[in-house]
Amino acid sequence: MAIAYRSKTEIESIRRAGQVVMEILAILRAAVRPGVTTGELDAIAARELRERGATSNFKGYRPAKGIPPFPGVICSSVNDEIVHGIPGKRVLVEGDIIAIDFGAVVDGWHGDSAITVPVGAVDAETQHLLDVTQEALRRGIAVCRPGNRILDISRAVQEYVESEGCSVVRQYGGHGIGRALHEDPWIPHYVERGQPNPLLRPGMVFCVEPMVNLGGAATRELPDHWTVVTADGTRSAHFEHTVAVTQGDPDILTAT
Ligand code: MG
Ligand code: MG
Repeated sequence: MAIAYRSKTEIESIRRAGQVVMEILAILRAAVRPGVTTGELDAIAARELRERGATSNFKGYRPAKGIPPFPGVICSSVNDEIVHGIPGKRVLVEGDIIAIDFGAVVDGWHGDSAITVPVGAVDAETQHLLDVTQEALRRGIAVCRPGNRILDISRAVQEYVESEGCSVVRQYGGHGIGRALHEDPWIPHYVERGQPNPLLRPGMVFCVEPMVNLGGAATRELPDHWTVVTADGTRSAHFEHTVAVTQGDPDILTAT
């Protein structure tokens, strides 16, 4: 699949989907508290999508044959869960963190964003993880300028995360977005020789979404085929925005 370059009108369409995503993420953030289940958060998101005439790009998603379709409209990943956690009966308790990854489709255009929310008060190490991951996303987005390349994003994220004593996940990363949830290019959040390194050009729209672990970078997939956890059991955080490259400053289409 070739990288798409979107017109200003198309970017405004993606922004409308992005705004629905952010309105609903704000509602979910406010609903996070000790005692709530991840399934209840999913039900809130599903209802809010319906009320806005939007649909889910997560529910029913199936990356390959033999993998059960994703059953929720949110991915809810708690503590050592990194990404793709399935919402259900899990009850949040004080001191947990929950990554909520959420997307919406409006008029055929896709938006995607993720936040990690503390459940009540969290310990200092966990707060550091949240701060580092959010700042890593900010730094990654800041270099989304014409003339830079994809790996400039990867490098900005990785260098900062590692300088703070954390590690960045390799197996999962950002992606082009627009007519589909996952388009080219692939956006790694680490640098390795031989990775494709396309030039950033105005009209490119993609998600930057570092997943940061307190311990090592290694991941493990649970037998449910979806939930990804840290191999060493340490906590992980995830923040994501949908971003358009312009002639000038990066344009966050999932800004609040
Ligand atoms: Mg996402
Ligand atoms: Mg994404």
